[in-house]
Amino acid sequence: MRSLGVLSSLLANRSFSTNKPNVLVFNRKTKIKEPLQCNKLLTWYVCGPTVYDSMHIGHASCYVKFDIIRRILENYFQLSIFQVMNITNVDDKIISKARALNMDPLQLARKYEVEFIEDIKLLNIKQPDIIARVTDFIPQVLNFIQNLFDKDLVYLTDDGSLFFDTTKYKRYGKIVRVPEVVPHTFKRSNLDFALWKATKQGEPSWDSPWGPGRPGWHIECSAIASHYFGSSIDIHSGGIDLLFPHHENEEAQCCAYHNVDDWVKHWIHTGHLHVGDNIKMSKSLMNTISVKELLNSYTANQFRTLCLLSNYKSDLEFNDSTMDVACGVLKKFDSFIANCYAHLNTNSSKHIPDITLFKKMFDVENDILINLADNFNTSKTLNLLIELINTFNKLLTVDFNFNCSNLEVIQALNIVFKTLESFGIDLTRSKIKSDAENSLVIDITVNFRAKLRQLALESKSEINKQDVLKLCDTLRDELAAANIIVKDSKKSSIWRNEN
Ligand SMILES: [Zn+2]
Repeated sequence: MRSLGVLSSLLANRSFSTNKPNVLVFNRKTKIKEPLQCNKLLTWYVCGPTVYDSMHIGHASCYVKFDIIRRILENYFQLSIFQVMNITNVDDKIISKARALNMDPLQLARKYEVEFIEDIKLLNIKQPDIIARVTDFIPQVLNFIQNLFDKDLVYLTDDGSLFFDTTKYKRYGKIVRVPEVVPHTFKRSNLDFALWKATKQGEPSWDSPWGPGRPGWHIECSAIASHYFGSSIDIHSGGIDLLFPHHENEEAQCCAYHNVDDWVKHWIHTGHLHVGDNIKMSKSLMNTISVKELLNSYTANQFRTLCLLSNYKSDLEFNDSTMDVACGVLKKFDSFIANCYAHLNTNSSKHIPDITLFKKMFDVENDILINLADNFNTSKTLNLLIELINTFNKLLTVDFNFNCSNLEVIQALNIVFKTLESFGIDLTRSKIKSDAENSLVIDITVNFRAKLRQLALESKSEINKQDVLKLCDTLRDELAAANIIVKDSKKSSIWRNEN
């Protein structure tokens, strides 16, 4: 009999979409793409951060990629999602850093937890429905361990710590091929893992039937996820680093706890972020870039575009040239949107709608859905958008209008807008950038007026025509720096935004 977590009672009276998704998801356990299985409400557990330092963009890329997947499932497949993430706020790394800084470990963890939440907001990542600190779940952890203890899957070591006995759980190694068993000094097997760590001097600790201590890392996710979701979860996700031993251990202890063969329906993992020559970004390699450092050089939209340009489960290269590509792609979208607005604001088109162009746009929308249903293929989706934009750009006239009807421009604009917004590209942030550029344009124009005024005041005769034209050319060049492109014809001038 499967057990239900607290979530089922909390949501018993809510109604949900009955649409059945037809989505294929790559499952790390079976190593194939499988149809997404979920009930009325998709339940999703995300392994969260150990809060002992600023988040680096290797970790951030995982959360951005999962955010993209969440938004695709909600926006394209109309799924209701309930997501829980843990915060590891007591751990060896937190304790050792707090000791070095002469700080309380739980206060240090709280500081970096606040920073983590700020960072995910800056990256436009939707907050999980519940963010759960392990220290708020000690009773659930102890109950979990007691259950495994009663099933004779746990042993006590000399120092008072408790370990999960992997040799007694016969299905250990069901997600990955685990390393060979070799003798170990204080554990029965090198694969066994700590459920409860006996307290050492100066460490945070909680009472337990086996003496004071604190939870091991793996047990916290199992206890928190089981508390909310019971004996079955639709999606469990994390970076690929967590596949072994963390997720293997979580699966083993949860299947044992709930007496089930499988605890998670879909294990999904994101690839590493590399910083050149196949080198992974990690704290231990001291090659990390924090989210704030990233945002000094690039926008959240540009970093998200980089994530969209490859499959979430592939490794991601972060360097100047891959970011140039991402920035170029985003600029192409921005320019297209700006051109569409310019066209719709100024054009009195005489064209009648062309059925061929509409058919092409219908096919693009259909292909986007097919690609997203195929394990969230965002890179192909962006290519489809770029092809659509290229088709329209061929219709662009010298005065920046499209040689087609307004209806077609509106339809293309809608497709580009809807897709980018569905992926979490925040188009209002482009507006913020535009506001900064608008100030620059005002500065340039006011300075120009001042120079022209000065010229008139100092002039003893009629103003020289060449001097005025020279000032006009200077203004045109300065406006180009603010992405305003001015084109002169004999009787008038037109402009467009180059964003
Ligand atoms: Zn976890």
